[in-house]
Amino acid sequence: MHTSLSLAKWLLTISLFTATQVFAQSPKTHQVSELVTPAPAFEVIVLGDSGGIEDGNLSAFLLRAVSEANYVALDAGTLVNGINQSIKRGAFTDLALVDDKKWGKAGTILRRHVKAYLLSHAHLDHVNGMLVSSPEDSAKNIYALASVNNMIGETYFNGKAWANFSDRGIAPTLNKYHMVDLLPSKTTPIANTQLSVSAFSLSHPVESSAFVIEHNNDMFVYFGDTGADVVEQQGKLAKIWTYLAKQVKHKTLRGIIIETSFENERPHNLLFGHLTPELLMQELGSLGRKIGGNAPLKDLKVVISHIKYTLAKDTDPRAIIAQQLNEANDLGLTIIIPKQGQKLLF
Ligand SMILES: [Zn+2]
Ligand SMILES: [Zn+2]
Repeated sequence: MHTSLSLAKWLLTISLFTATQVFAQSPKTHQVSELVTPAPAFEVIVLGDSGGIEDGNLSAFLLRAVSEANYVALDAGTLVNGINQSIKRGAFTDLALVDDKKWGKAGTILRRHVKAYLLSHAHLDHVNGMLVSSPEDSAKNIYALASVNNMIGETYFNGKAWANFSDRGIAPTLNKYHMVDLLPSKTTPIANTQLSVSAFSLSHPVESSAFVIEHNNDMFVYFGDTGADVVEQQGKLAKIWTYLAKQVKHKTLRGIIIETSFENERPHNLLFGHLTPELLMQELGSLGRKIGGNAPLKDLKVVISHIKYTLAKDTDPRAIIAQQLNEANDLGLTIIIPKQGQKLLF
């Protein structure tokens, strides 16, 4: 009984979300969304929806304020393949594309419409797309915490793993990417966009980060890989929850992207700085309590990133994690399991 009720609730969540989701080629759906949701403030394109194993679909999202045609890339595990898949799915049909004489559509989007990288941490599955596309990329800023920028320089932009396309570190520097160190909790404007960002440190085997992105009075939060406070014992997520609880008094939290890498069954000592459905719900419960009131996070759109793809037979981590999240969703969140090439509005 419990399972079938949960399944019904899950199906309802899915269908409700479908109604608020906008695909470029479905004007009917668009009208429905205008009736049931406030005007969107942000657009997200899913360039890579998973946390590993399958190249060509690793953590990366494009985010823009709907009022402009300029994106920032939130991590860049997969870039050009993600843009190509998104073009195929019609995700960019509403974008006022610059007319570029030299470059094709994917090139124009990457070179002219992606204005900056926000990199959560230096793990390869979050930077691979940026590295391999750098020879044909345009000049732009890389925003990250200082330790993250330094590790990217030492590990990849070192003239060994890859040519140094950045403007610091080991010579010769090609100076295509200007590395900007974000100071924790300080709000920094993102050049060539209407957005600003505040970074927060996260617990992971290497320092990882969350980005609170703002446009006017609207906020969106992107989390790189992160462990839960109860496992990591560093209280880093609690700091973000406290910050957000304060911010939502005068700003609107439009949505978040956060990871759920593994199923509940995975022991805590084998999580290596990642979340399970149970731990994510505990953490969001802590945010809800800090905000207070009755059902403070009801209908908040939570996009689940970094589900670990597996080559193992007869198992579907996406389905299992979706079910476990849904069963624990007492907060009334709108949980979104994204697919590469999808456009989401917030
Ligand atoms: Zn990762
Ligand atoms: Zn990682």
